[in-house]
Amino acid sequence: MCMTNDFSLQRQQLITQLQQTGIHDERVLQVLATIPRELFVDQSFHEMAYANQALPLLLGQTISQPQMVAIMTQALQLSGQERVLEIGTGSGYQTAILSRLSRFVYSIERHAELAEQAMQRLARLDIENVSVLVGDGSIGWEEHAPFERILVTAAAPHIPNQLIEQLAPGGLLVVPVGDQSQQELQVIERLEQGRTHINSLGRCVFVPLIGEEGWRSHQ
Ligand code: SAM
Repeated sequence: MCMTNDFSLQRQQLITQLQQTGIHDERVLQVLATIPRELFVDQSFHEMAYANQALPLLLGQTISQPQMVAIMTQALQLSGQERVLEIGTGSGYQTAILSRLSRFVYSIERHAELAEQAMQRLARLDIENVSVLVGDGSIGWEEHAPFERILVTAAAPHIPNQLIEQLAPGGLLVVPVGDQSQQELQVIERLEQGRTHINSLGRCVFVPLIGEEGWRSHQ
């Protein structure tokens, strides 16, 4: 008897749960229903891949909770035409979702080992509209700026200035801002003449953004 695990039922149950908690963007829900989260975690966590919780990655990092991934993706209001900068590739799960909802994703991860694994997983899903860089994403990716959307998936002590500078007019930056134990998920819109409008989506908990415009170390 063949014992391969088909996660489609669990994936659908997770989507229903996300809808019940207020995720309403149909495009986001549809993409979440197609990306196999089990491919982005270690085999030992396969059975937990569709629990609505963060799970461990290598080097003390985490794949974000599906609900948080959905909230952040929905906040980006992607139409399919955007060039997106993502800071904190991690497992590559969020990257895969962004790739299906935008034109191109530039993603930066500070740990080479995580970036390498993420690229292999994205290739396995035939995702080609992504470029992954190993480096400090807190200072953005000047060479490819401006970006219509920027997503930071690690906790910043303040809104990184260089990310605002690399945001296109009318663009959106989604970033958790606070201390290393708790943050507020902020959505920053770049208005004309460098002005910004900030909206808060509530509390969240992320691993720290380590870098020039982030924290100097993990406390
Ligand atoms: N979105 C990821 C996923 O779907 O798996 C989870 C990201 S995890 C919560 C945060 C990631 O940010 C970690 O992989 C961490 O190494 C990375 N990170 C922290 N500081 C960074 C920096 N300055 N530049 C790039 N990546 C950074």
